Formats: sequence, structure tokens, C-alpha cells
Amino acid sequence: MGRLNGKVALCTASAQGIGLATALAFAKEGARVIASDINISKLEQEVKDVPGIEAKLLNVADKDQVTALVDQLDRVDILFNCAGIVPWNSTILDCDEATWDQTMNVNLKSMYFLCRAVIPKMVAQGSGSIINMSSSISNIKGAPMRFAYSVSKAGVNGLTKAIAADFITKGVRCNSICPAAVDTPALQERINAAPDPVKVRADIVARQKIGRMGKPEEIAALALYLASDESGYTTGQELVIDGGWDLA
Ligand code: NAD
Repeated sequence: MGRLNGKVALCTASAQGIGLATALAFAKEGARVIASDINISKLEQEVKDVPGIEAKLLNVADKDQVTALVDQLDRVDILFNCAGIVPWNSTILDCDEATWDQTMNVNLKSMYFLCRAVIPKMVAQGSGSIINMSSSISNIKGAPMRFAYSVSKAGVNGLTKAIAADFITKGVRCNSICPAAVDTPALQERINAAPDPVKVRADIVARQKIGRMGKPEEIAALALYLASDESGYTTGQELVIDGGWDLA
């Protein structure tokens, strides 16, 4: 008996990294997984032989695409909002309006679109679990040169608590996950594009007192717990998973 047997999970950013690891973990535990990504060819390649996963094109910043996809689903038990972009190396002074708008649209407004589309189904069912991907770099920790990203992820934590408070009596839970550095293709690309990748990688690893970055599968394990009924008493929380970054 899988931990998610009989549940339908809608997931974003499933083509790689944390999103892919989580879609695979959900399917392994018996969920029907509607996996989505803006990069549909990569997603299809990754999940083509995995039972229980359907690949769908979805740009989370496009309201019409969000509505059309959610309308196709009879029910949604789990919503995993994973999509996010990381504008690299900017303070408020280097962050132009286009970067601000794009970051807020992909990282935060997308969750407004997806939650607004999905919550009525969850309320009608009398149950549902929403899991929003935030970050330690948010209202939790200030990190240099991550201006727009920090603001967007703090917004994700606020959106999470507001939804949790408004729908707690309707059977809908809403939590966020706040990781420190996780070794994913996106993070590798950003490190490799830096002028001194060896130093940047060492600096990022050194932040976590456990002495390494997290693995996508470790974040997926927390998402799986939040998706399952095992976490039925948990809502409105920012779950920090940071390799001890926050320790003194
Ligand atoms: P990743 O780049 O490895 O994967 C991101 C996926 O998102 C890609 O498949 C990409 O195609 C997709 N995507 C990008 N824009 C999209 C859009 N508009 N619509 C739909 N899909 C889109 O990323 P990751 O490192 O696994 O990060 C996933 C999430 O975890 C992000 O929200 C990120 O902010 C968060 N996070 C990551 C880390 C980390 O260190 N990797 C730490 C904390 C939080």
C-alpha cells in the first residue's frame, strides 16, 4: 500500500532537480501524478517509462495555461508548487523592473494562479494538501545578492500562511518548504557561469554546517510527508531543511 494511493498530485517544474525527484517519489507511493514543466520535451524524456506520471506543458506564469490544465482534472489532492527562478547576483540597485516582474511572476504570482484554480476542487472534496517551494533565503535568512529572489520567497511563505488560515476548516492544508542549497542542474549552471566556479561552490557548501549541499531526493522526502495523510496535523508551516545553516 503506497503512502499516496488514490491521490491525484499536480506538480510544477517536474523536468529536473527537486521537481523531478518529487514527481518520482509521489508516483512511487501510488499517486496519479500530473507532472508539468515549461520544458515539455525534457519532462517527457524523463518520465516516459515511469508508471503513474503524465507529462503536461505548463508555464506557471501563464494564467490561461494554468486554468486550462486544472480544468482538465476531476480532482486534485496534492498541489506541489515547485517552479521558481533565481536571478543571480543582484542587490536592489542592480535589480531592474523587468527582473523584479519576472521573478515575482514565476515565483509568486504563479502560486496565486495555481492555488486559486485548485482550492475550489479541494474545498469540494473536503481535503487537500498544498506544498509551496520557498527557500531559506526569504523572511528566514537574509543572503547577499539575492534581492528579488528573497522577496519572492518571503511572499511564498506569507501566501502559504494566509491560505492555511483561510481554509483550515475546509480540510485544506498548506505548507512551504524552505531549503538551503540543493545540488540541482539549475544551481550547477549558476555556479559554472560564475567567474570563479570553484570558489563559489566552496562558499555555497560552507554555508551548510553539515558540510555539503542537500540532495533533491531529501527535499522530495519532505514533500512526500507533507503530501501524505501522515502530516495531517501540520498546516501553515515553513519547514526549514537547511543542513544546519541556521545553527550558531
Ligand atoms: P531546476 O532548475 O533544477 O528545475 C527548475 C525547473 O523549473 C526546470 O525544469 C525548468 O524548466 C522549470 N521552469 C522554469 N520556469 C518555469 C515556468 N515559468 N513554468 C514552469 N516550469 C518552469 O530548479 P531546482 O534547483 O530544482 O529548484 C526548484 C525550486 O526549488 C525552485 O522554486 C527554487 O527556488 C527552489 N529552491 C532551490 C534550491 C536549490 O539550491 N536548488 C534551494 C532553495 C529553494
